[in-house]
Amino acid sequence: MEQELRSLAEKIKPSKVIVVLTGAGASKESGIPTFRDKDGLWSQYDMERFASLDGLLADPRRVWEWYRDRYLEAKRAQPNPGHKALAEIEALLRNRGKDFAIITQNIDGLHQKAGSENVIEIHGSLYRAKCMECGKTYAMDDVINGSLPPYCECGGLIRPDVVFFGEPLPEREMEMAIYYAQNADVFITAGTSAVVYPAASLPYIAKDAGAVLVEVNVEDTPLTPLCDFVLRGRFGEVLPRLYDEIKNSI
Ligand code: NAD
Repeated sequence: MEQELRSLAEKIKPSKVIVVLTGAGASKESGIPTFRDKDGLWSQYDMERFASLDGLLADPRRVWEWYRDRYLEAKRAQPNPGHKALAEIEALLRNRGKDFAIITQNIDGLHQKAGSENVIEIHGSLYRAKCMECGKTYAMDDVINGSLPPYCECGGLIRPDVVFFGEPLPEREMEMAIYYAQNADVFITAGTSAVVYPAASLPYIAKDAGAVLVEVNVEDTPLTPLCDFVLRGRFGEVLPRLYDEIKNSI
């Protein structure tokens, strides 16, 4: 992998826009389960029930208790060396006048906790909730301590501000994500199974627009055959090594 990391750092050097798309695998080493791994959330829970509007409306208290627990888990979790390396890469590249963005499918806030600044959350955030009637947004801390489910001052049911199955992605975030995919010189996917659409279309958009496509994952994904660099390994191991290579080459 040494040689590949070095060649990738050489590609990043003249690049103007560098983009990283992260998924649940990025947070695994921080103790947050993924969806599809064998010990992932799918294997433990009926996710259609917890992560859908129908599920919320059918049993709001149960679904809210589940999200409260996910939120508390995320709040307790610490960024791993991969999150920290991405924050360091961002600082280094911005310092050299480059544009750097993380597009994340994760809702756990760990990139921001690690110090990353340009983070586009395309599936929402566990740190926020919003009223289904008037749209007022709340900090999660302000709604989970009373009785669940929480209600807005307007009387509407409050929901977690995350994207449920079958819902469209937030418009502004998706626009930004597509902009970055279209303009990336280097597009890195890290810890994502690349099967959840429309997020999974972003690497294809980037590749079609001429980006160097990179995958960081512990196993193959549908994207692997399309990639220019395949860095087989853990998020928390590969990204710090990439940071070192960029630091040495730039
Ligand atoms: P996924 O569960 O479908 O895939 C996880 C991927 O990460 C797999 O390809 C797996 O091989 C890889 N992986 C596992 N451990 C890894 C490691 N240590 N290093 C590198 N790669 C590793 O996740 P997804 O692609 O993000 O899609 C699932 C959806 O689940 C997303 O929409 C996301 O919003 C949601 N989700 C989010 C969180 C979170 O916020 N942390 C957790 C679970 C699910």
